[in-house]
Amino acid sequence: MEIDLHRAPGAPGAPTEPSLARIRPFRLTRYFSSASLIGIAVVLACLVWTYRELTLQHLIEHESRSNADLTRGFSNDVWASFRPFVLDSHGHSREQLLAHPAQKRMRDEIQRQMTGLNIVKIKIYNTDGLTVFSTDERQIGEDKSSNDGFRGALAGKVTSAITYRDKFDAFEGVLNKANLIYSYIPVRAAPQLAPEGVFEVYSDVTSLLDRQRQAQWQVAGVVLGLLAALYFFLHMVVRKADAVIVGQEKERSKREAEIRHQAHHDALTGLANRTYFGERLGESLSHAKRYGHSGALMFIDLDRFKIVNDSLGHNAGDMLLKIVAERIRSCLRNTDLLFRMGGDEFTVILPELTTPQDAAHLARRIIAAVSAPAALYEHEVIVGATIGIAVYPGDGDDADLLVKNADAAMYNAKNACRGTHAFYRATMNEHALQRLSLEADLHKAFRDGEFALYYQPRLDAGTRKVVAAEALLRWNSPTRGLVLPTEFIGVLEDTGMMQLVGEWVLRTACTQQRRWASEGLATLRISVNVSARQFQNPNFATTVARVLKDTGASPGCIELELTESLLVTHPQQALASLQALKALGVRTSIDDFGIGYSALSYLRHFSIDCLKIDRSLVSEISTNPRDRAVATAIIRLAEALGISVVAEGVETAAQAAFFTEVKCDELQGFLFCKPQPAEQMKAYLEGMPAERVSEPETAAGQPG
Ligand code: C2E
Ligand code: CA
Ligand code: CA
Repeated sequence: MEIDLHRAPGAPGAPTEPSLARIRPFRLTRYFSSASLIGIAVVLACLVWTYRELTLQHLIEHESRSNADLTRGFSNDVWASFRPFVLDSHGHSREQLLAHPAQKRMRDEIQRQMTGLNIVKIKIYNTDGLTVFSTDERQIGEDKSSNDGFRGALAGKVTSAITYRDKFDAFEGVLNKANLIYSYIPVRAAPQLAPEGVFEVYSDVTSLLDRQRQAQWQVAGVVLGLLAALYFFLHMVVRKADAVIVGQEKERSKREAEIRHQAHHDALTGLANRTYFGERLGESLSHAKRYGHSGALMFIDLDRFKIVNDSLGHNAGDMLLKIVAERIRSCLRNTDLLFRMGGDEFTVILPELTTPQDAAHLARRIIAAVSAPAALYEHEVIVGATIGIAVYPGDGDDADLLVKNADAAMYNAKNACRGTHAFYRATMNEHALQRLSLEADLHKAFRDGEFALYYQPRLDAGTRKVVAAEALLRWNSPTRGLVLPTEFIGVLEDTGMMQLVGEWVLRTACTQQRRWASEGLATLRISVNVSARQFQNPNFATTVARVLKDTGASPGCIELELTESLLVTHPQQALASLQALKALGVRTSIDDFGIGYSALSYLRHFSIDCLKIDRSLVSEISTNPRDRAVATAIIRLAEALGISVVAEGVETAAQAAFFTEVKCDELQGFLFCKPQPAEQMKAYLEGMPAERVSEPETAAGQPG
């Protein structure tokens, strides 16, 4: 049997785990009851038996004594007169005995003596064992010489025993169902003399025995009552103990189940965790191989999660993860298994895959579900998901390889286009390796000082004088040559290096501003690109303040280029950061304006100094009247709000002429100058020919 420790069985995405074999708990009460009832029965049986034996023995002893007393009394009184008859009876026949005159007298005398006693029969033997007298006349003349009792009495011993008779001829009539005690008693002339005859006396103990039995059952009843009371008392104690034991047992197994659950589940989302994932993927893979099925492994990585986590805090991040987990789960079928691998990574095992298209379809649904806006406290945030898919057994023979390949597919999708899915291809691991080596090289590059800043002039549109320069990051790699930021900024952001490198860029640019100011270029502004990661760090303004102080740069000459998306997705936080920056006296601009959101309304709330119209809007300005209309509208709006405008990527004289005509404030582009190292920039400023100082040919698509 399988039990689900987390969700109701059959809930989509909830992997089930095997229970431990159910152990039958020890039931103390049941054992106690059986043992005690057997014990009580045995005790009662022993008691009744012992009681009966003892009382019977006692009764026989008592009767035997009283028979002996009776005989003694009889012999004292009348033996003398009958003694000659008994002593003389040797060899007599029954008829002779019956005919003897003493017979009648003896009968009368004995009957007289027996009246009122419980004696029911008396027989007298001579020393030969001949029955000389009996209250039952028919027995006179019988030979009893071989009887043990008789022989014992002849040897001087009184012997008694009890007997039961259905019918017994007593001298007063017939007795039915009688218990009798009979004794053989020697008769002597004087105590020290040898026996001269033997008496056999029968006493009726039926009523005595009945009374004794009655007493026996009364005692048994009392004892049974006491034992029953004791039993019920102990039973209550034991039941209480049993309840305690059962309670402890339940508590223990509950704790065990919890521990098992914790070991296999993620505490935040309640989803199965990485440990459990390994087990289930291995099982599913071997099942697929054995039965010739297909399955798929999806590696889901959230896009922009880190930004939410960094900017809104871990509580919001946790809340978002729960929402996302629930959304992914809602897309799954009952047979699909969902796991949280840690951080913002999830995996789904699809153990029953008909075609890979099914996996693609599911991936699209998951991405759509995850990408819907989510409300976190007063914020509405949007994260995305990128999914890598490996199909097994084809894409990997063992679980580790499958995970690696699904991961590679995910990375590939992420690099190509976030918010999409990709199937694993054999070449992907090469890309993953390249990416890994790029990460390693970037670490080394930063450590070894291979980064540099190039500067691109920004000219006043009217006077065509350089008023500012944009600092652009370059990597002088000994193996790769001069590398443009588009190739590595993303990696710096993903690996968390952007904070460090960004601060280095700011510091270098500020140092440069200070140097140029000391060289007579005091009004030249330097603009610095700020990545989302940097801006969303709550300490960003503090870092800027520290760098300004350390370098002695003039804040009014430093401009921070921010991206539009930052302000739109986290308006509250952006507002606070912008105010802090304003307080420091630095300028701010919005980079790449005109693409993406272009939500103009937010410009009312933020005190922005400058808009940089994106190159894509500039490039077709001469041919596309719509672009002209948009660019003109942006410039008019900015003018009305007191914000200056820069046209970026100006490559032709016609473009420059258009923006000059519509009163754009600044122009920046290859038409005037490409980005170049600081010294060459200085030379350019001092009026040297642009050809000699331009940037080496590096970026594809850059006109020479
Ligand atoms: P961006 O901020 O929009 O920078 C302008 C980019 O346009 C630069 O590319 C520049 O070389 C290029 N450009 C300027 N004029 C022309 C032109 O007339 N034609 C063409 N085709 N291109 C022109 P670059 O230096 O490769 O930088 C690319 C992007 O990398 C930047 O775009 C910026 O987003 C980012 N970046 C550069 N440096 C930094 C940095 O220090 N920190 C951060 N966070 N991002 C940076
Ligand atoms: Ca820029
Ligand atoms: Ca730009």
